[in-house]
This record gives sequence, structure tokens and C-alpha cells, in this order.
Amino acid sequence: MLGKTRRTHYSNEITTSLDGSHTILMGWVHEIRDLGGIIFILLRDRTGIIQITAPSKKTSKDLFKKLRKLKKEYVIEVEGTVKKSPKAPGGVEIIPSNVKVLAKSQQPLPLDPTGKVKAEIDTRLDSRFLDLRRPEVSAIFKIKSRMLHSVRVFLEKEGFIEINTPKLVASATEGGTELFPITYFEREAFLGQSPQLYKQMMMASGLDKVYEIAPIFRAEEHDTLRHLNEVISIDIEAAFMNHEDVMKILERLVVNVIKDIRGHCKDELEILGRELEIPKLPFERLEYDEVVEIVNSQGVHLRYGEDLSRAAEKALGEIMDGYYFIKSWPTSIKPFYVMPREDDPSKSYAFDLMYKDLEISSGAMRVHEHDLLVEKIKKQGLNPRSFESYLSAFRYGMPPHAGWGLGAERFTMALLEIKNIRETVLFPRDRRRLTP
Ligand code: ATP
Ligand code: MG
Repeated sequence: MLGKTRRTHYSNEITTSLDGSHTILMGWVHEIRDLGGIIFILLRDRTGIIQITAPSKKTSKDLFKKLRKLKKEYVIEVEGTVKKSPKAPGGVEIIPSNVKVLAKSQQPLPLDPTGKVKAEIDTRLDSRFLDLRRPEVSAIFKIKSRMLHSVRVFLEKEGFIEINTPKLVASATEGGTELFPITYFEREAFLGQSPQLYKQMMMASGLDKVYEIAPIFRAEEHDTLRHLNEVISIDIEAAFMNHEDVMKILERLVVNVIKDIRGHCKDELEILGRELEIPKLPFERLEYDEVVEIVNSQGVHLRYGEDLSRAAEKALGEIMDGYYFIKSWPTSIKPFYVMPREDDPSKSYAFDLMYKDLEISSGAMRVHEHDLLVEKIKKQGLNPRSFESYLSAFRYGMPPHAGWGLGAERFTMALLEIKNIRETVLFPRDRRRLTP
């Protein structure tokens, strides 16, 4: 049981300058080495690992016995004195005066938190809480947390207002596919695949610039390294702006986040062995036509008017490094709410932000004229009547607007060069996994 005492330091706060000071640490038993006359315990907490050194001569019999009974991953409270010790990792150790077991851990463990015994991703995800005890795993989530924080700070500075739109919805965003149906009392409803229609309706509200960071649900069957069925989408929509305006916001956001992470997550980046370079502004802007040429020149067949296949993305990633935009997508493969180009309506004001071979964001200038929108909904084989409440927002003064959606997990993958999206989610939802 936790008594009256509280932790005085995290392990990374114990430095040689504290030599001789009293300290109370709390954490997990990472490892125990019992050499008979001396016991070493590695105590792990959120910030790192510190050595507890108990020589039998300098330790009371009672305490020595208690230390000897500790097992891996017990949760303990250690009271002791900081001692400078060139031999200890980090140059300091703790000479204990008391130890208290706060919680025991069953043995054997389903997963080795020291990482010495390698485990498959499925085993790791089954015992995610133990997996997260490994510094190289928790580092990913500390960085993801910082990324989301700095996205918020950046967007607020740019004058965006955070909104929350419903995730229980009556109809599809872009058509009837890829949705999870649910029972909503006596009716069928769906889990929202995107806040698209709601954030656009907000453009008629006068709030001008809005953002939302929330889950989106996609009932796609694919089982790939970059798709999940539930992800966090960072969405913005801005009135009186066009595609180029919101692309500028997006590229500046990426650079700001990278600078912030470099400044605040040095330890985590080091643990992951990641050197984050600050990309140069502006990001390169490729026309869709150029992309078709590049992909074909790489020996991968891509017909004009097709969306990028995985092979096409890979071929493009061979040529393109870092972050870049693809713009002027064919109107026919983009959703109805995307604005066609004035000079050539077969092309659109839609764009994607790529990192090497990975799409991390899609956006566009939107159609804001009611009649054109109805026409485009019909052209895509959809019924305007099922979009009635959305369409009504376009009848009473809808300003021109643009926006994008940035996948938080895809962005984390890009930031940390992670190959499997499951590494960037605490409890991933994919084709096969619904627990934990
Ligand atoms: P992809 O073509 O890679 O399947 P998409 O074009 O269908 O993605 P959008 O509808 O454009 O995805 O969604 C905007 C962003 O949301 C994507 O660029 C991506 O970052 C993220 N996203 C969408 N669906 C998924 C998913 N199933 N898994 C992970 N991230 C996703
Ligand atoms: Mg997309």
C-alpha cells in the first residue's frame, strides 16, 4: 500500500550533484543481481533506470532479506542516499535504507520488459502495458503526445478554434462504403469515417477557422502496415482560404512540430536513434501529371486518371525524399466536395501531402456553391436527398473554403520512420484485432 511518503525524485533527476542527499524513488524492478555479499537492483521509472546498491556489510539484515525477495517487475518504493559512484551507470547509485513492496508481479512474465527476449508484434500488443515499459516503446507515445500538443499550440496561434463533431452519424460522408454500421435505438447508424461534412457546415457558422482532433472509423478490409480501422485525424477547415493557403498552413505545421519535438524530446529521439531533420519550406509541389510520368519512368504502370496503387507510391518514394505535395488530382477520383479547377474542370484543387512513399494528409479547396455541389453529388451516383442537412448549410451564405485531414498515426510514422502503423497506436484496431 502507498503510505504517506511520496516520490522525491525521478531516476533521471538523480545526478552526482545530489551526492549524500536523501531520496525516495518509486518504480519497477527492472533487474536483480544477487552476488551474495552485494545485491544490485535496477529500478526503472518513467524517466529511466537507476542502480540500487546494497552491500551486506552496510545494509541491515532485515533490509537485505527484503531485497533478496524482490522479483522482476515488482513495484517498489526505495528510500536511500545518493552516492557518487563512477562504476555505476550514470555515475550515481542509491544506497538503500528502506524498501517497500507496493505491488507484486506474477512470474513468469508474458513479455520481457528489458527487451532481451525479442517478441513478435502480436505478442507485444497482447500485453501492451508490459510492452510500454520498454523505453523504445514509450518514447514513441511521448513523442506522439508532444506532436499533438504542438499541433494544438500551432493551430491556436493561427487562430483556429477547436470543435467536436459527432461520431455517431446517420449517413456516409462520401458514399455508402467503408462504414461500420451500428444500431442506434430502432434505426441503423454508422461510426463517422471523417468530420468532413460537419467541419464544412461549420464554415457557414462564421467561426472561420476550425480544427478537430478525433477518431475516424474506416471499415476497410485491408490489412496493411499503414491502415487501421480506427485512427486519430487532425482536421482543419478554413473559410476565405483556397487550397494553396491551407497547404501553406500544413507545411508550416509540419516544420513547427518537428522543431518542437527536436527541442523537447531529445532523450526520446536518442532512444529511438532518430535524427529529425528540419525540412525546408516550401515543400515541393508535384502536379499529378508529373507523378504519372515519374511512376511510369520507374517501370510501374500508372494510367492517367488512376489513384496511386501501392506499387506507384513505392516507385514515387524511390525518387522523392522527405515531404512533398501532389496537387491537381483528376476530379473523377476525388470526392464530390472537391472543387474542380476553373481552367480545366477535369482536374481539381485537391492535394495530398506525402512523406516519401506514405500519404499523410489529403485536402482541397471545396465546392461552396450549392447547385454545383448537388450536380457533383449526382455525378458520383449519390442521392442529394440523403445530404439534405449538409446541403442546407450551402443555401444561406457559404463562404469559399478549404481544409485538410492529417492522420496522427501516419504523421507519427513519418516523424519516426516507423514501418508498421500498429507501433504508433496504444491499442490498434485492425482487421483481426479488437482486444485489448
Ligand atoms: P489511403 O489512400 O492511404 O488509404 P485515404 O486517401 O483513403 O488513405 P483520406 O480519406 O484521404 O485517406 O484520409 C485523410 C488522412 O487520414 C490520410 O492521408 C491518412 O493520413 C489518414 N487515414 C485515412 N484512413 C486511414 C487508415 N485506414 N489508416 C490510417 N490512416 C488513415
Ligand atoms: Mg487521401
